Amino acid sequence: MRDNKKGISLSERLQEIASFVPKGARLLDVGSDHAYLPLYLLENGHIDYAIAGEVAKGPYSSALENVDQAGLSDHLDVRLADGLAAFTAADKIDVITICGMGGRLMADILEAGKAKLSLVKQLILQPNNCEDDLRLWLMTNGFAITAEKIVTDKQKYYEIIVAEQGQMNLSAVDLRFGPFLRQELSAVFKARWQKELSKLEQALMKIPEKNEEDRLVLKTKITQIKEVLDESTANY
Ligand code: SAM
Repeated sequence: MRDNKKGISLSERLQEIASFVPKGARLLDVGSDHAYLPLYLLENGHIDYAIAGEVAKGPYSSALENVDQAGLSDHLDVRLADGLAAFTAADKIDVITICGMGGRLMADILEAGKAKLSLVKQLILQPNNCEDDLRLWLMTNGFAITAEKIVTDKQKYYEIIVAEQGQMNLSAVDLRFGPFLRQELSAVFKARWQKELSKLEQALMKIPEKNEEDRLVLKTKITQIKEVLDESTANY
């Protein structure tokens, strides 16, 4: 959101994401919408150059307007482009943020542009769902997760995943719950999975006993959550 006197004020979710962007990064924000994230980082002197990439004309126009209004057109290029097509080697982008979309779409965007990723030091990703699919893409494409955080904003849970070039070997449990998140077992993490557990238990009660296969899928998910959450009580 833009307040003309104070500049951009970010949602809690975007603020948390901003806190992971290294100072002085040359940033590409894919799916930038209003370009709030790069504008905030520029206005606060955290970075000096960014590209806001957008595939849809409406958000692209909003971003252009906001950048123009902020007088930051020399520091923030708004480009109408699909995914990683928004940058070339000449832009010297070293950090990419992709936030606020589904994990599978993010994996598709990374896959489509993966030839360019060797130029990039860090990915900062905030999937709205299918986090396991995104982690799997990272693992099978030469990226290692270096940090994770789970945050709440307006009663929703969001996972932030930071990855760099490297190797990692994640178990099925790591893929689903996040290797760092499940170790940290924060209060937000526990609340998120307790909520999911209740949802799955309710769903299980509605599936007739004869639908054994469907019940087994849910039971496996439920058991996995219980095991991860039980680790929390085991630590006390
Ligand atoms: N990143 C912002 C955030 O986290 O608040 C905006 C999220 S918004 C829900 C998702 C944006 O991604 C939309 O503006 C959409 O047009 C854009 N988008 C979706 N697919 C894209 C792609 N392949 N390339 C660039 N932008 C894309």
